[in-house]
Amino acid sequence: MIRQDTIAAIATAPGSGGIGIIRMSGPEAEKILCRVFKPAGREQTRMESHKLTYGWLTDGPEVLDECMAVLMRAPRSYTREDVAEIQLHGGRYVVHRALELCLKEGARLADAGEFTRRAFMNGRIDLSRAEAVMDMISAGGEQAHKAAVRQLNGGASSFVRSFADELYGLQAGLAACIDYPEEISDEEGAGMLKQGLEKLISDLEKAVDEHASRLIYQGLQVALIGRPNVGKSSILNALLGEDRAIVTNIPGTTRDTVSGEMSINGFRIILTDTAGIRETEDPVEKIGVERSEKARREADATLLILDGTEKLNSDDRELLEHFSGKGAVVINKTDLPQAVSEETIHAVRPDVYCITVSAKDPESMKQLREYLAGYVEISDQLALTQPRHLDAVKRAVQHLKDAMITLDRYTPDVASTDLQEAQAALSEITGDSADEKLLDRIFAQFCVGK
Ligand code: GDP
Ligand code: ZN
Repeated sequence: MIRQDTIAAIATAPGSGGIGIIRMSGPEAEKILCRVFKPAGREQTRMESHKLTYGWLTDGPEVLDECMAVLMRAPRSYTREDVAEIQLHGGRYVVHRALELCLKEGARLADAGEFTRRAFMNGRIDLSRAEAVMDMISAGGEQAHKAAVRQLNGGASSFVRSFADELYGLQAGLAACIDYPEEISDEEGAGMLKQGLEKLISDLEKAVDEHASRLIYQGLQVALIGRPNVGKSSILNALLGEDRAIVTNIPGTTRDTVSGEMSINGFRIILTDTAGIRETEDPVEKIGVERSEKARREADATLLILDGTEKLNSDDRELLEHFSGKGAVVINKTDLPQAVSEETIHAVRPDVYCITVSAKDPESMKQLREYLAGYVEISDQLALTQPRHLDAVKRAVQHLKDAMITLDRYTPDVASTDLQEAQAALSEITGDSADEKLLDRIFAQFCVGK
């Protein structure tokens, strides 16, 4: 349902700023703007569309601020409705007064994301592009921003539409097979359909890039493991370039996990220094050990740190034997006389990658950083990365696989429900089949004024 009222909101971030913007959208936007805004130096005439005008914000006889205003008449606007924006000095008080003024003149306070929702409802953008607007606002790094731009450009939409078209083709073939049984036998029809389905499933599976998705939206989780005193905290601090963890030479000082973030090639890297992995009875240390287990389980890469100045002890050996291999073994303290070498490590685990460093040497920290950079390379091929889109594609693939099974067991007509369900899942991405609940959930994540 398209609501016909006029909405208003503060479009700029809360608090004081250089400028503050009030935005309105709806049939009354122009009328309300003309009531509260007086162009400077001339009599009020009909506002020209898409032209920034200088003037005054007034509440009856009271002048509230010097400002600029612009009217964008439908349909050439963000929402495809009449949109008015007033740019004020960004003081908290004056911006709120301006909003109250617009509400007093008949506007309604906009819900979160309602401007973008109207743009979607009025057909200006599809759902994946509406989400891209939100991702753009929340993008914390270069790669998240890039992904949002791709999606805003309609990357995901056209991608998904091409799959949906392929699926329509298969559905049409199925319909022909059902309607003209004398021309296409069930076996022939099922055979053709299965071929098409196999290709579509493989194309869809190739289209989702979960690794890239995780990197873009969550960053790379790196766990530093190793027995106490090998230099985990020192390496973490050296990588982050700040004193994040407490470093002492009393074994077991790092009681809790300590995390820090850095950025490599525009991706977030979250480093977690884990507490000592020894069995312990000390309750405080126990909590730390449990968290360290969790950090290890969830890590995309693990750095197993060893003290190069000491022979491998049983703790080191156990860690080495259980090392996942996802990550590297880091021999630390190479600025001191060494008791461990790559050969020592490879005698225990020939398959692991070794790096030798000193936490005290910036050059070797640079090498470690470059090693981690290898984990955050993503393919520049167009792929679906938005978590909601991945979920929808996975469900579509599941329905298509169900259809394959159905075709093996029953006649082709039974498979048509599976194909319809797959189609529905795919079109959730662009919003062609999104229900109100899904829309509410998506737009509720927006901020007010967007
Ligand atoms: P953790 O228990 O594994 O977190 O180890 P720490 O980072 O707390 O380091 C234990 C001790 O080793 C501290 O005294 C550090 O200063 C020292 N240390 C750590 N890395 C190096 C290094 O590369 N070279 C030298 N010489 N000392 C280091
Ligand atoms: Zn530590």
